[in-house]
Amino acid sequence: MSMDTKQDVTVATCAGFCPGVKRAIEKVLELEAAGKTPIYTLGPLIHNKQATDMLSEKHITAIDSPQEARDKSGVLVIRAHGITPQFQREIEDYGMEVVDATCPLVKHAQNIIDKFAKQGYHTVIVGDGDHAEVIGLMGYTQGHGTVVSGPEEATRLPHFQKVNVVSQTTQKESVFYATAEEVKKHADLCQVSNTICQPTKERQKETIECARNADLVIVVGGKHSANTARLAVLCRELGSAVQHVETETELAKTQILQAKRIFITAGASTPEWVIDRVAQHVRALRTETTSEGIK
Ligand code: SF4
Repeated sequence: MSMDTKQDVTVATCAGFCPGVKRAIEKVLELEAAGKTPIYTLGPLIHNKQATDMLSEKHITAIDSPQEARDKSGVLVIRAHGITPQFQREIEDYGMEVVDATCPLVKHAQNIIDKFAKQGYHTVIVGDGDHAEVIGLMGYTQGHGTVVSGPEEATRLPHFQKVNVVSQTTQKESVFYATAEEVKKHADLCQVSNTICQPTKERQKETIECARNADLVIVVGGKHSANTARLAVLCRELGSAVQHVETETELAKTQILQAKRIFITAGASTPEWVIDRVAQHVRALRTETTSEGIK
């Protein structure tokens, strides 16, 4: 993390694109540079308006199904969240070139589900049932999968003979384990597969450590990004004051001037340049005010 002791503004080391998102964006930009256009991504590549605007300037368009592509000679890109195997077969049969940018760590979760589902295990996914990654994971459950958002929802599960509890890769670890404990009460045999990815674990760990020591946490990222929203919730639970902003224009000045120590972090889908702009703006505000002698 980078610390400006005079101003006490710390920017998280883990802030910004996670390796999976970075890899997917690089793949798409490589295709564009190689002239392989038009490029269609199945769903937005990332949940961040500033980044999607940049991609649409390069004529990289998000679509929901291959039928929406104007031109069959284009390339279809599977984003980092992955898709169901059924959908994968459907797009491969459609006759367009397919580039798979599923994050290897999402693939790992898909493989674990697949392995146990084939052995007759029911799958319980701890996550958000509407999220693209979870929809993709459900496709590997052999039709025997349930999504629960946390331990409370898990109390309503029926009894299973064999169950495999897995996690959305960006899940909060304490929620995952509390849910797994509840699921155990509903099964003769319970396999617990923590599929939260390493970058998410590191991000959560750093956030907990730094947020505890800050008076104000600024979480930068899309309001529709699940992992960014989860980060903001995590910081609020730690008792910190939190501003969740998409860009520097949303920053609340007074709170920034009043806070002694500020920690800036960001979700996995926030571009570095957006984080930099927010950090620069925060520092500039504090410098201006210090030089004016206002406390
Ligand atoms: S959050 Fe983790 S699993 Fe998801 S794309 Fe990023 S690195 Fe991959």
